[in-house]
Amino acid sequence: GAPAQDDLLAGLNPQQLEAVTYRGPALLIVAGAGSGKTSVLTRRIASLLRNREAWPSQILAITFTNKAAGEMRERVEGIIGDAARGMWISTFHSACVRILRREAQQFGFTKNFTIYDSGDSRALIKRLVKEHEADAYGLTPASVQGRISKLKNELSDAESYARQANMTDPAERVFVEVFADYQRQLQRANAFDFDDLIGQTVYLFRAFPQVADTYRRRFRHILVDEYQDTNHAQYALIHELTRPVSGVGSAPDPYASNGMMIFEPDPEPSAGAGEPGASLTVVGDSDQSIYAFRGADIRNISEFERDFPGAKVVLLEQNYRSTQNILSAANAVIGNNFDRKDKKLWSDRGDGDKIIGFTGYSQHDEAQFVADEVEALHRAGMPYSEMAVFYRTNSQSRALEEIFIRSAVPYKIMGGTKFYERAEIKDALAYLVAVANPADEMAVRRILNKPRRGIGDVTETAIARFADEHGITFREALSMPGQLGVGPKIQAAIAQLDAVLAEATAIMLPATGEVPPPTSVADGLSLLLSKSGYLDALRASRDPQDEARVENLDEFVAVTRDFARNNPEGTITDFLTEVALVSDADDLDDESGSVSLMTMHTAKGLEYDAVFVTGVEEDLIPHRISAGEPGGPQEERRLFYVGITRARKRLHLSLAMTRAQFGEVSVAMPSRFLQEIPAALIDWRQSPGDVNSRGGMQSRALNARRSGGFGGSGSGDRFGVKPLPRESLKPLSTAMDKIPNRVTAKMRDNGDLELTAGDRIRHVDFGEGRVDAVTGEGAKRIAHVRFDTAGQKKLLIKVAPIEKL
Ligand code: ATP
Ligand code: MG
Repeated sequence: GAPAQDDLLAGLNPQQLEAVTYRGPALLIVAGAGSGKTSVLTRRIASLLRNREAWPSQILAITFTNKAAGEMRERVEGIIGDAARGMWISTFHSACVRILRREAQQFGFTKNFTIYDSGDSRALIKRLVKEHEADAYGLTPASVQGRISKLKNELSDAESYARQANMTDPAERVFVEVFADYQRQLQRANAFDFDDLIGQTVYLFRAFPQVADTYRRRFRHILVDEYQDTNHAQYALIHELTRPVSGVGSAPDPYASNGMMIFEPDPEPSAGAGEPGASLTVVGDSDQSIYAFRGADIRNISEFERDFPGAKVVLLEQNYRSTQNILSAANAVIGNNFDRKDKKLWSDRGDGDKIIGFTGYSQHDEAQFVADEVEALHRAGMPYSEMAVFYRTNSQSRALEEIFIRSAVPYKIMGGTKFYERAEIKDALAYLVAVANPADEMAVRRILNKPRRGIGDVTETAIARFADEHGITFREALSMPGQLGVGPKIQAAIAQLDAVLAEATAIMLPATGEVPPPTSVADGLSLLLSKSGYLDALRASRDPQDEARVENLDEFVAVTRDFARNNPEGTITDFLTEVALVSDADDLDDESGSVSLMTMHTAKGLEYDAVFVTGVEEDLIPHRISAGEPGGPQEERRLFYVGITRARKRLHLSLAMTRAQFGEVSVAMPSRFLQEIPAALIDWRQSPGDVNSRGGMQSRALNARRSGGFGGSGSGDRFGVKPLPRESLKPLSTAMDKIPNRVTAKMRDNGDLELTAGDRIRHVDFGEGRVDAVTGEGAKRIAHVRFDTAGQKKLLIKVAPIEKL
């Protein structure tokens, strides 16, 4: 009815309205941050459904993270209710997994295939690099993995690469061998790596047009968010899906009862041969392209009009997210990138607060500033969940965590994968994979001697050889312990492992036709962990770490129970898929009420009332590895732009003068991006040197500075209050007072201080000592000092509060 329709379109500006209501084969929405791209996409879906122009099953929407997919689904359901069921809203990877699970048997995989995450494929590549002795040619597992990934994103395989590579170069030859072998091993293990998920789906569509037609018939509306970050393989996938139905071969009828239901049944007709391709809507912002290093290609946006002639283009310019001060800063920064279309974002939300700048003495001092500000905002009524702290590299989170724990600021690290990277969780997953996909040799090998069963390398090799000789899998060989030529004790151990796996298989993968109960995954996992002896071994250990491991495994079992509740018909393969596709932005436990910590890459698409961008220093942002990359510094600028445009009301930019990084303490220089922001927009707060009168802050800063050796915290008291040890508080030295509080001012500089071995010096904290040696050059000169009472220290001469005696 009309009122509902108004609802759907209420509050949209004219350009947004056009983007929601335009109907045609291709629509490109290009716009800066916070201009409502994602909102428009969501409303467009709702409008298609509400107007009965499309059935839910005809919609495929692609988001950048699972979390974004969940939010978009919720919003559409919020607008039009249950009628939204059956839409595919997911990431590229999830959509491809769904397709591959249905179709993999077409080309030599089974639907239980394993998904190798980056760690898994690294492990496999490492083994192959060793076997092919590729390290002799300077190839490292990391470099090989990076190159393979890049090639796959270009839809290139070992063969096609070999055709254009210089194969007289032995390093190239061995790389091609490793690449080809890697692909063979994946196939043998019935596994896809992350890049394959996309690439092999494209291959599937190209090799089997009738399969592609099935999906072309189904999806009549394809919508892609964050289009600027699609790589070539993803671009090709979209292209395949939006082609007209070819009608080649015998197209399987999705509603025919061929034993396997291909799709959820829908009453509506699907497209027939000769029908035009699906309508395609993409939204993006070339200023936010931050994945070029992973093969994303901005040209996918700029060439959209060429690829889809007659495409409608809509520009959005009003930003609804941020205050004008924040936007002006963002506009000023991104304006320094050449080679871009100038677009000026504006906001009618008023100027708002100034941006707050802070220069700390060290990263701990900087972290203390963040914690203090967070607390002040919280006291003023802002929920913790509305605040976020960004950094360029994951390692920067450590100092923040230390201070947050001490200051009892509740926080969560966005990086959901961390939990699944723990050794014990990987072991548990390997047990599950060994059941779900017995062809996955790497998983079976991983659990072979976990817990210790006395099965060593010799036995492992014997099993592998036996499997090879008899043309069976490694897993199958375990069922014949008597024939492996190993001693009776080891035979018994293997037989026991085989029995446990078989028992779990019976629970989780019952005979055809039988539906496993919802709790099968949780029950199977519990059985594997207990009957394998894995849990007992941990419990018997005296290592306190093992206690935490038992807790983590309990947590993991709880995850499987949650899964059962949410997916009553979910199988072990569904569960493993979900785990494999957890990404950084998908926090594991969605406890609200905590500050979110994440990298700037992870922050894409999100928004918070208050944002802290930390470590705004040269070598961090722009990152030093970007310096040598073509377009590197520009991509870093876009990343910084993404970071600052997440903020609704408050933006904080902070840096430290010295930073312990890459195993050394170095002098940090303010990022060039800071200079690009008009000075009038930033209100620089005092740095520790100028706050001698405010004892608390100064002491904490000093204390933080001293806390170098803070160890990992137990997981239990993550949010517990840890009072500061009083005895460590003492007045800050006068030398500290001289540290200027503005990045534009000069830093403390001992640049000309001549020091040589044998000199005696005095340090404001450590007292007197003797210089043993001086290493490094220029700003990085380091004095190795043996203090009379404080022991040996390494000091960065340029900034250390020292004087020569
Ligand atoms: P990004 O580039 O960061 O992904 P975006 O262009 O996708 O941003 P959205 O996240 O869709 O922008 O919107 C930014 C904010 O503005 C959201 O909070 C959204 O609800 C709000 N918004 C969008 N359009 C309007 C509107 N017409 N009226 C009021 N608020 C709006
Ligand atoms: Mg968005």
